[in-house]
Amino acid sequence: MKGKREIYCPHCACRPQPEDRWECTPGCGTLWNTFWTGAVCPGCGQRWPDTECLACGEVSLHEDWYHYPDEDETQEAWVYSKETVPIGEEAVFRNVVDQRDD
Ligand SMILES: [Zn+2]
Ligand SMILES: [Zn+2]
Repeated sequence: MKGKREIYCPHCACRPQPEDRWECTPGCGTLWNTFWTGAVCPGCGQRWPDTECLACGEVSLHEDWYHYPDEDETQEAWVYSKETVPIGEEAVFRNVVDQRDD
């Protein structure tokens, strides 16, 4: 189970439901489930740093909704960057090497 991510409100522990919708406001007014896109509005591409809980009304950092049972926050940030950043960098690096032609 290590590293299994859970999503719930850091205030009331209420879990967002698939049918829940957040509104891009002030913004383009799109209604969507913010946890499907990592808080990025599909209408205008705005990334919302905060997410309001539809159950208790508290606004929390979007990343605070993600909970990793076996890891503290420092490790969580490290795992996140390890999963996302180096893959792209490696691909770019390979491209550069492939294009070198001597
Ligand atoms: Zn929007
Ligand atoms: Zn809540």
